[in-house]
Amino acid sequence: MPAVESAVTSDQRRQQLADNLVSVRQRIAAACAAASRPAESVQLIAVTKFFPASDALALFQLGVDDFGESRDQEASVKVSAVAAQIAGLGSSTSSKRPRWHFVGRLQTNKARSVSRYADVVHSVDRPDLVRALADGVERAARDELTVLLQLSLDGDTARAGARADAVLALAAQVASTQRLRLGGVMAVAPLDADPDAAFQEVAQVSARLRVEYPSADIVSAGMSADLEAAVVHGATHVRIGTALLGRRVT
Ligand SMILES: *Cc1c(COP(=O)(O)O)cnc(C)c1O
Repeated sequence: MPAVESAVTSDQRRQQLADNLVSVRQRIAAACAAASRPAESVQLIAVTKFFPASDALALFQLGVDDFGESRDQEASVKVSAVAAQIAGLGSSTSSKRPRWHFVGRLQTNKARSVSRYADVVHSVDRPDLVRALADGVERAARDELTVLLQLSLDGDTARAGARADAVLALAAQVASTQRLRLGGVMAVAPLDADPDAAFQEVAQVSARLRVEYPSADIVSAGMSADLEAAVVHGATHVRIGTALLGRRVT
């Protein structure tokens, strides 16, 4: 695991993150303009997996509020490290805190840990995970956890996510579970498939979901390579790693 606790950001790294942030925000703004959507209708989530807490802190100081992680072991350490670093900064920025989005595949036995620190879990795709998260939120004495239903899209061979025909049943389960808030849907476009078709399918499932649950209006779709296509098809949240932080060394 990389040194996620690192507190040091060089001026050079800070500048690189600042430059990358400008270009990602420009891409989002251009995509919104092309789709006749207001630029504020798309929320940027910086996916900091494999990068140190210091990078997340630097992005937070540059105005990013939302962060994504995909592995519990790494995320739990990083969330605490970033919180400690923000607390050490003094009063001007410490009234704000980052929101953490868990975007990776989630094992049931990690749900309790994730429910302690995540503000939103994007990868809910099966009934036992709903139950495990509800249990975790209860034990953590939290008021509420927002969950998104991850869709498995046509052509997806990785098999994460629920099939479109299982989404409404899963939504009903979440909606009837205390302390879980149904936020909407999430999807990863399959590799080697047309992202337009994939995100169109996401938009259709989202529309169907909102007929019954009008407040479940989050559409988490789009990554570094395909954010434009996601914005065209109504993404409200884009999850950007590489374009902001650089290539991950795994
Ligand atoms: C890693 C990851 C991202 C970010 O991907 P990039 O292509 O680096 O922007 C987004 N969503 C999920 C679910 C991820 O695991």
